[in-house]
Amino acid sequence: MDVKKALEQKLGKEISQSSNEEIFVSLLQLTKELADEKNQKETKKKIYYVSAEFLIGKLLSNNLINLGIYDEVKNALSESGKNIADIEEVEVEPSLGNGGLGRLAACFLDSIASLGLSGAGVGLNYHLGLFKQVFEDHMQKEKVNPWIEEQGWLRKTDVTYPVSFGNLDVVSRMYEIDVTGYDNRTNKLCLFDLDSVDDSIVDDKNQFDKTDIKKNLTLFLYPDDSDEDGRKLRIYQQYFMVSNAARLVLDEAKAKGSNLHDLYDYAVVQINDTHPTMIIPELIRLLVAEGMHMDEAIDIVSKTCAYTNHTILAEALEKWPRHYLMEVVPQLVPIIEVLDDKVRRRFDDERVAIIDRNDLVHMAHIDIHYGYSVNGVAYLHTEILKNSELNHFYQLYPEKFNNKTNGITFRRWLLHCNHELAGTISDWIGDAYKKDAMELEKLLAFENDKEKIEKLLDIKHNNKLLAKQYFAEKQGLDLNENSIFDIQVKRLHEYKRQQLNVLFVIRKYLDIKAGKIPTTPITVIFGAKAAPAYVIAKDIIHLILCLQEIINNDPDVNKYLNVVMVENYNVTLAEKLIPACDISEQISLASKEASGTGNMKFMLNGAITLGTEDGANVEIHELVGDDNIYIFGASSDEVIAHYNNHDYVARDYYERNESLKEVVDFIVGDKVMAVGNREMLERLYNELLNKDWFMTFLDYDQYVETKEKAYKDYEDRMVWGNKMIVNIAKAGFFSSDRTIAEYNRDIWKLND
Ligand SMILES: *Cc1c(COP(=O)(O)O)cnc(C)c1O
Repeated sequence: MDVKKALEQKLGKEISQSSNEEIFVSLLQLTKELADEKNQKETKKKIYYVSAEFLIGKLLSNNLINLGIYDEVKNALSESGKNIADIEEVEVEPSLGNGGLGRLAACFLDSIASLGLSGAGVGLNYHLGLFKQVFEDHMQKEKVNPWIEEQGWLRKTDVTYPVSFGNLDVVSRMYEIDVTGYDNRTNKLCLFDLDSVDDSIVDDKNQFDKTDIKKNLTLFLYPDDSDEDGRKLRIYQQYFMVSNAARLVLDEAKAKGSNLHDLYDYAVVQINDTHPTMIIPELIRLLVAEGMHMDEAIDIVSKTCAYTNHTILAEALEKWPRHYLMEVVPQLVPIIEVLDDKVRRRFDDERVAIIDRNDLVHMAHIDIHYGYSVNGVAYLHTEILKNSELNHFYQLYPEKFNNKTNGITFRRWLLHCNHELAGTISDWIGDAYKKDAMELEKLLAFENDKEKIEKLLDIKHNNKLLAKQYFAEKQGLDLNENSIFDIQVKRLHEYKRQQLNVLFVIRKYLDIKAGKIPTTPITVIFGAKAAPAYVIAKDIIHLILCLQEIINNDPDVNKYLNVVMVENYNVTLAEKLIPACDISEQISLASKEASGTGNMKFMLNGAITLGTEDGANVEIHELVGDDNIYIFGASSDEVIAHYNNHDYVARDYYERNESLKEVVDFIVGDKVMAVGNREMLERLYNELLNKDWFMTFLDYDQYVETKEKAYKDYEDRMVWGNKMIVNIAKAGFFSSDRTIAEYNRDIWKLND
């Protein structure tokens, strides 16, 4: 195809005479047409990946790569004096996800299509998504984040379904976004919406009438659930999502010849975390409405649905009061009661009941009893599920439990975000790695190859320059490209322990003040959104922003240490930061991070992990060996023992450790108080000293020591470059193509 001609035909003029916006729209149309031309034929059995979140990121360049025309487009543009990076800037990042779980769903859709599997994502079309994070007075403020444009990827369809709630009936509409496979078929992301939803009911403080369901249903992802109306709104959303998904599944199965008694030969529903759990009773309800006997309907649905668990944090396992469900979805309650009754007849164990003694409905329990597969998302996580967290279920159904270690799509997280590295790898080992990620192991041949290592170090430096330029332009930040980029970007949560990294920053600041100058300057970069109602998380952001102000303006220190918190961390920013990173901070309290996928993205881009033995870090460690990762901290067994024995006392660590005490006291010392908010800083200080639920102090000494070792190793550029090579070479296992092939082999069994 002559891309230039095709583009200019759409533009109706020369590229050079067109604006970036016009070029974007033309490329959008061209991409949609090419995606349409790909194979979209469905096999008998189809996978429906149902998820409250799809953190898909911008789509233009990714689609161009997957359709095989990225280079042609780039060249056609540059011949006309245009830069593809400027065209990418026109696109607005969709706001359909929050963090790792949503990004995983997006990577999985890419891999499902790239492996040629017939599948769809199913979710909601949130008009305002999560929120846009801005910093004011060194604090996070939440602003509305409208992202839907006149000219975008959403395609309005004629598919509509009636959906009934306790007190109102609505009619949904389905929108679709193309999911292009890499050199393969096109699938769809199906997003349901209501025509009556009205963004204008939201005020400039992000507040709105939570009871006006017709107008608010698909406004926000995770609306504030600190009050009852907010919690009910979440149930409205969840039911709306799964009722539509269930109808889509049944309609498509029937259209392919299913008599519904064989539904599981036509459809498999992967339930991504507990948010879509109500699809189980909803499918049962719809089958019964079609005339099927209840017992058979339960059996059929149980053979169709599979559940992925994403967390062992108790507060994240959803439990809804029965009376909320009675109000919002009364039609499901009798079915859930039957499901509970059957469980109670089979098992005399209150812990596995669906409806507990307090009349709370445990959503995960529905999934485990009435799904045919329960998977964790990394080896350690699945072991913890089996041996402790869900052990009483594992005793009942050992055959249902399986592990699927998460992965990431290398199209976005290497080919798209790190062109120079991807091109260089192709020069060295050929292109086969793009379809078979294990080919990256061929890079091991270049260990100790001085020329190759120098090239890798050059690429890293160039990516730092690109990040410097981007963040200077977009956020007015000044990154020192000659410093170590030490990066922690992920949702803000105490279990992820940004606060531990912060304590190190204070330690370093005090050391430099005392004359201990680092050999190479250090830039510690944070990026994180805090849930709007999560007070301590916002206090941690506040402390980081105060330190940024103090440290970057201190002439004794700022030549050697900088602290930067990027605003509104999202996929677009991740794509700029990850290729520029030297040290990847993965420092969650062992046993708490189910997998992590940020860790994989960094590794693939030649960053070295500084982490605990948690989530997929365990598998990274196993793959790269002790010399190519920095592991520290208490093991998951030790941590679990501390919880069981109730014997972790933060204050004891503080009292016994001079260095730690000095650092923690700094939080409420004069320097920080002079720029910060007393109430927030004191609250954080007290939380750490009197609670520290995620045991920050426990790992403090080892963290400081291990990080200093990493900084020291960085000085020997050849040694460091070798570590980079090993990390890139061993990253192949973490391709989501491998993960999806395993889901298909063990759970979905499409094309059998
Ligand atoms: C990958 C990714 C995440 C998940 O990061 P973790 O470190 O695994 O928590 C969150 N947000 C964005 C934007 C991502 O790209």
